Amino acid sequence: MRTYVSPTGHPPRSIQFWLRWLVLACTLPAALVAGFLILESYQRERASTERDVIATARALMQAVDADLLGIQSVVQVLALSPHLASGDLHAFYDEAQTALLTSHAGNTFVLKDLSGQQIVNTSRPFGAALPHEADPNQIGRLIRTKKPAISDLFVGPVAARPLVTIETPVFVDHEMTYAVGTGLFPERIGDILRRQRIPPDWIVAVFDRSGHIVARTQNPEGFIGKTGSPEFQQRTSGALEGAYEMPTLDGVPAVGGFSKSSTTGWMIAFDIPKSGLVANLQRSLLLNSLTALVILLLGAALAHNISRRITRSLRALSAPAAQLGTEAPVEIPRLEITEVDELGRALVNASQLLDERARQRDQAASNERRMLAAKEVADEANRMKSEFLALMSHELRTPMNGILGFAQLLDAPNFGALNKKQKEFVDHILFSGKHLLELINDVLDLSSVEAGKMSIAIERVDLVPLMKSVIATLEMSAEKAEVELVSQDFGRAMPPILADRVRLAQILINLGSNAIKYNRKNGRVSFSYDRLADERVRIAVSDTGIGIPAERQDELFRPFSRLGIEHTAIEGTGIGLALSRRIVELMGGTIGFSSRLGEGSSFWIEIPVAVAPKPEARLALPAPAAMRRPSFSVLCIEDNPANLDLVRNILATLNGVTMLAASDGPTGLRLAKQHRPDVIIVDINLPGLSGFDIRQQLGSDPELAAIPVLALSAGALPRDVERGIEAGFFRYLTKPLDVNLLLAAIDDALSSRTETRRRSEPVA
Ligand code: ADP
Repeated sequence: MRTYVSPTGHPPRSIQFWLRWLVLACTLPAALVAGFLILESYQRERASTERDVIATARALMQAVDADLLGIQSVVQVLALSPHLASGDLHAFYDEAQTALLTSHAGNTFVLKDLSGQQIVNTSRPFGAALPHEADPNQIGRLIRTKKPAISDLFVGPVAARPLVTIETPVFVDHEMTYAVGTGLFPERIGDILRRQRIPPDWIVAVFDRSGHIVARTQNPEGFIGKTGSPEFQQRTSGALEGAYEMPTLDGVPAVGGFSKSSTTGWMIAFDIPKSGLVANLQRSLLLNSLTALVILLLGAALAHNISRRITRSLRALSAPAAQLGTEAPVEIPRLEITEVDELGRALVNASQLLDERARQRDQAASNERRMLAAKEVADEANRMKSEFLALMSHELRTPMNGILGFAQLLDAPNFGALNKKQKEFVDHILFSGKHLLELINDVLDLSSVEAGKMSIAIERVDLVPLMKSVIATLEMSAEKAEVELVSQDFGRAMPPILADRVRLAQILINLGSNAIKYNRKNGRVSFSYDRLADERVRIAVSDTGIGIPAERQDELFRPFSRLGIEHTAIEGTGIGLALSRRIVELMGGTIGFSSRLGEGSSFWIEIPVAVAPKPEARLALPAPAAMRRPSFSVLCIEDNPANLDLVRNILATLNGVTMLAASDGPTGLRLAKQHRPDVIIVDINLPGLSGFDIRQQLGSDPELAAIPVLALSAGALPRDVERGIEAGFFRYLTKPLDVNLLLAAIDDALSSRTETRRRSEPVA
């Protein structure tokens, strides 16, 4: 199984994974901002609470101060009592008792002398024995400052319990004579606090200058006279007012504030249990946080839901996508997401397209199969046609061999002179025979071109000599047709061209003979050539003949099409142009024409110019030597008596020749062994041993292997010739026999035989 690995190297993640990240990326900053705002508002609230606490402490301190100052002014009024100036202390005692009842200034009034001895004490009957002041500093400070003063907490000697005093000096005749004061029990100061309507859970305490608790709203009995915790003392020392957060003396976590009085030097401090004060803040903090969390969770749940929908939609596509290209129809349900729905519909379209393509492909494949079958049939028919043509030509060549051979012999002077009529008839035979041979050759050529079997030998060809020989060939028929042959000045230098020399001559002769054939009496045929800009040479053959009707011009290069001429006396086969065109194309050239009915036609071919250097001139063949030979023997193995007779008669034109004849292979081989002839001529198509078998057996006999063997065959296709040369035949001659070709072949064979003998003889 193949695992996809993303460019980052991680395996792929699900869309849900990425959507979760998306939600986180969107909500996290919001959550952070919300958290920051919540925290900031909490701190703001805290600061405002601190400010409130300090303000409350200050207000409470002022309330206590006001109350104490009120008591102090009552004491000051009492110090101005005339009874003191007059020394009537009893009256003063009564006055003090009244003031105690009416003013609620304190719990007791005390009059002391300047030594600190109590003289009057309202909490005792007048005249009762009274104690001396416990703290001598107290009266000493009063004498020194001569101003009212408030004491720290101390245990009163008469009441025998903690109290504070507010005392003021008494002047008699401008002389400080006494000190009068009032004693306040802690409850009395506690009353001041209670009047402030302090919330029940708050703890408020009043401290004297020495830091001892003078009054407390909660559980005063347990704390009066005690000091605050060291932490509290440290926090409150050195500042007039402030706020703090620390546990109370009971150990309850609390927020508190303090304020010191500049008048009395006392301090008031209070604690608010954190549970009550911060709870609100913390509740709002918690609420805000919870709200944020709930929103986050809701977002996550929503994202989860949405991602499931997206995933569901996408997954709904995977099965249909997997079916693409299969036979199964692709069906897609209605999807919730527009884009995915569109993708789904695109998949359906793609599937339909694929189906359509598959159908077209199948159709094309079946068409191709049909066409291939048709082509096979056509190829087979073509092959059969070629075979038929080859066979026909083969079969026709054997009788043609006799006809043309004997006609040629009749025409030769060796067998006596012919009279005029006989000569005329022999000429007819030769003319018609040659025409028939041409036809056979053309048909054979056409079938081998069509079968792709024509071999072309491209070489550098000098155009001028070739043109001259073409014109020379055509001269006789032109003269007969009373047509003038005109050519441009061939002296002009032309570059050699690349062509098959023999085939090019064949084409030009065909064009020239057409121009003569389809001309009129005293007409003209002109040959010209021209070098074109694109390294080609154009050779044109123009006539002043009958021209070609425009409506039939497109049939011109079709095999066997004669454009209606077949109904006239002009001979032809309708193959020449078709064959020419195919050969020109094989040589890499083009063929074309222009024609006007009744005015004439011009046919041209264009052939590439040769750019390669000229190869060395070939050696000239030695002149025929057969005539000069003293005597030699030829063995001819041929089953057809007429052909055997023909060869015999041809050989009879030579001097000193002995001919041996055999009508089958075994006889021929026996004669060869007996007489060791100089040349052997073998017909290929023999009953029993074929010409090839005979060649093979001769080659394997050391005594006979050196004898040149000429093949004589009706198989004139190039591949037949090739096969013959490959099999070791000295020459492969085709029927009907060209007498001169046979004589030249014998001559070459004799020369090669002499050469071999000379080389094998020991040097004397
Ligand atoms: P053939 O000459 O043997 O009939 P070709 O293939 O050479 O066959 O020519 C085909 C036909 O083209 C001829 O039958 C003739 O009708 C026409 N044709 C060819 N050359 C000429 C020409 N020079 N002038 C007029 N008609 C021509």
